[in-house]
Amino acid sequence: MDFGDAPAQRVLRQEVRGWLSQNVPVAWRQEAAHDSLAFASYLRGWQAKLHKAGLVGLSWPVEFGGRGLSVLDEQILFEELGRVDAPPLPSPVGMFLVGPALIRFGTEEQQRRYLPRILSAADIWCQGYSEPNAGSDLSNLSTRATRQQDGSFRVSGQKIWTSRAEIADRCFLLARTDPAAPKREGISCLLVDMSQRGVEVRPIRDITGLPHFSEVFFDEAVVPPTDLLGTPNAGWQIAMQILGSERRMPTRANVAPLESILADLGRTLDEGGIVLTEISERALGAAARDVFTLRALRLRQLGEMSGGTWQEAEASLQKLTWDRTFARIHEAAWTAAGARMAVDAGGPWGLWRDGWLTTPGHAIGGGTVEIQLNAIAIRLLGLPRGGR
Ligand SMILES: Cc1cc2nc3c(=O)[nH]c(=O)nc-3n(C[C@H](O)[C@H](O)[C@H](O)COP(=O)(O)OP(=O)(O)OC[C@H]3O[C@@H](n4cnc5c(N)ncnc54)[C@H](O)[C@@H]3O)c2cc1C
Repeated sequence: MDFGDAPAQRVLRQEVRGWLSQNVPVAWRQEAAHDSLAFASYLRGWQAKLHKAGLVGLSWPVEFGGRGLSVLDEQILFEELGRVDAPPLPSPVGMFLVGPALIRFGTEEQQRRYLPRILSAADIWCQGYSEPNAGSDLSNLSTRATRQQDGSFRVSGQKIWTSRAEIADRCFLLARTDPAAPKREGISCLLVDMSQRGVEVRPIRDITGLPHFSEVFFDEAVVPPTDLLGTPNAGWQIAMQILGSERRMPTRANVAPLESILADLGRTLDEGGIVLTEISERALGAAARDVFTLRALRLRQLGEMSGGTWQEAEASLQKLTWDRTFARIHEAAWTAAGARMAVDAGGPWGLWRDGWLTTPGHAIGGGTVEIQLNAIAIRLLGLPRGGR
């Protein structure tokens, strides 16, 4: 069996590789990592450059500014980006969640207005789902959007853990529009302007010291009727239907960055002259095994996607194994480098420590480990729900 690219995909890979060899910035992590605003504008510039080269939105339909290629083709792009450790896109929420949602559910006006700005990174979007009392149980959300006589909405309430809210231009918001309806039937999906009065963003610094997410407070924020996505009170269905695109993000399922960081770990250990103990050799071996396993899983899943046999719950398996493998590589780094990781703040081990500190967050954001395990148990393995 040939696991290599089909001829058309080989051409695409060469195109991407050729462009990246001329254009990918080096040492970008050290350059801009510690100032969120400067970093965001750096990343906007990077995406705009990719967009100009025709390398953003490969799988979006041509009429919406994409190239109409397949998810397999898009995966090639992200593999190549991961292989050369390219900077990330500034707004994965815009590219992989809001964009597909607008293409599927948006009005023509919404599509014309927002899609080009997502592709060029003119707009950064955040995802306003979680609240202090609504995370895994999202349908418990209580942020209210009250309809006005002119058809607009007034939004009041609080969101939390909103990634990149401090730099976002717009928020993809779930809010309760019919408090009397059963929980899941009274929610609408709104496209909110973050720059207006009535929206306050309070960044939360995570354990690395960076404000990766925020609390967002809405106090009578205004949303015009043209920024309702879909029909009123149909927000839950929209949110559920695009959850699959979110969990399937090509950036999230991508094995290439894990292969790159594993290779980088090997290099950093060699260059630091670190002598491996039997325990650290085992930890590194286990990390390498997990990366190989993930590559095999990914190949199977890509085959299923292109063959039309993909089941949505596979995305939970993908997320779970990616997060665990990322954590396992960083645990191996700890085992091998030991205290160097704690004290080498500005050096190469400092970056490894920061990566390691993000691993618990990976296991929570986008749905916790337990929620993914439940989805795998019930939808992939056909096990009964708990309590039955
Ligand atoms: C890095 C990061 C980025 C995030 N970015 C965003 C964002 O951009 N936008 C956004 O809206 N949210 C975001 N979140 C929030 C995230 O979606 C929630 O934290 C997550 O859904 C869990 O919700 P919770 O924190 O309320 O925990 P809870 O739902 O209260 O869960 C607490 C514990 O109970 C367990 N649990 C809950 N229900 C069940 C169940 N049915 N079965 C078994 N165990 C269960 C959970 O697994 C967990 O261990 C982010 C979180 C992180 C860490």
